[in-house]
Amino acid sequence: MPFDSLGLSAPLVKAAKQRGYQMPTPVQALAIPAILAGRDVLALAQTGSGKTAAFALPLLQKLQAIGHQKPRAVPVGVMVLVLVPTRELAVQVGEVFQGLAQGLSRSVKVAVLFGGVSVNKQMLFLRGGVEVVVATPGRLLDLLGSNALSLSTVQALVLDEADRLLDLGFAEELGRVLAALPAAHGPVLRQNLFFSATFPGKVQALAQTMLHDAVKIEIKAEPQTKPDILQRAIAVEPPQRTQLLRHLYEQNKWKRVLVFVGTKHAAEIVADKLRKVRINAEPFHGVLSQGKRSQVLADFKASRVKVVVATDVAARGLDIADLPVVVNFDLPRSAVDYTHRIGRTGRAGASGLAVSFVSTDMLPHWHLIAKRHQLDLQLEQIAGFEPVQNAKAGSSAETAVAVDMEAVPSNGGIKGKRPSKKDKLRAAAALSASTAPTQPLPPPKDPA
Ligand code: AMP
Repeated sequence: MPFDSLGLSAPLVKAAKQRGYQMPTPVQALAIPAILAGRDVLALAQTGSGKTAAFALPLLQKLQAIGHQKPRAVPVGVMVLVLVPTRELAVQVGEVFQGLAQGLSRSVKVAVLFGGVSVNKQMLFLRGGVEVVVATPGRLLDLLGSNALSLSTVQALVLDEADRLLDLGFAEELGRVLAALPAAHGPVLRQNLFFSATFPGKVQALAQTMLHDAVKIEIKAEPQTKPDILQRAIAVEPPQRTQLLRHLYEQNKWKRVLVFVGTKHAAEIVADKLRKVRINAEPFHGVLSQGKRSQVLADFKASRVKVVVATDVAARGLDIADLPVVVNFDLPRSAVDYTHRIGRTGRAGASGLAVSFVSTDMLPHWHLIAKRHQLDLQLEQIAGFEPVQNAKAGSSAETAVAVDMEAVPSNGGIKGKRPSKKDKLRAAAALSASTAPTQPLPPPKDPA
């Protein structure tokens, strides 16, 4: 089904094609007609499924229609409010709106509002009146508090990555934003659109109270829509993880890697260790200034930075084209986070690789994640990096060594570099002195 048949106007179809969208993705094919028809939507779609354009295209069309009814000089007020969990996602969603709006007969003013940058500039921008606001809840509340904008005219509310919005302490802020909106069934009828990669109880509960007769869209992981992500799990003890990461990076000639760790401290330490062995790595977490985060992201996209070592909060929603590899250096806290993390690769039809490091004490946690995802992965061991008890077993027949032959070329490259037992002990001592194990799972407080 081509874009033309979804009810979109010619300029928007053209704008989509100019961004390289030839055919609608499944979520777009289902959501666009429903949104154009004014329905509420609850869409369960994986990251990378094209969900941003699935709501941006029809909402822009509606904005155009409203614009035509008003005299040009009359500012229409905020019509579309998109709430997102992170700054990066705010920027990306804002870019999609702005990009798709180009070429429309009437310009659409889009404000992207997030914390960590000067509030004054954002206030100035808002003064001229805006029609689309893409915001993180915290900064939006600040601006509402200082009367820099009003939500009284909002006709469409989008919760993007609703599961994450309700997670990690955003729930309370979200509740306050929702309370500032006009009643959904007041004089202005508001359309509510929920997009979420997963559908936990919290999202279901909010959907029940907010959505009215919603069109439910569930993009099942069918072969053609399922991201092509090869998943691997490798047994390795914490002190050896940085070395293993380096080893895999070099052996497999990975072009760019997004590495997930559990804390900002670990992000700094791992990036630092990699830089010491001349791998261009940068940490990426919520404590870095917005300017620094944007710079790291731009450098990573341009391949000037090869490895980004990130926490979950910072990395949420990143859309980096052609990101080939994601490594779970620390396992994610939950099966839901696993989905989000590995969804950073294999986007928009590209294939990707997701590698999880699993230490002995994290095995039960890994089994939980694997069970939730119905993953039937054999825990691999890489020669020279086997967990100690297995390494001791040496060539014993019962040691199930599941080395991925593709990942570990059998050209003897590893053999030559295989560390001796002493090397291993030395490395373990040195690394454990500087990298406090970032597991077991810390309480879910400020992982940024
Ligand atoms: P999203 O799920 O919105 O983060 O989109 C994931 C990626 O898919 C982005 O890089 C989009 O530019 C891309 N994309 C969105 N829609 C399409 C489409 N119809 N065809 C090809 N790529 C798309």
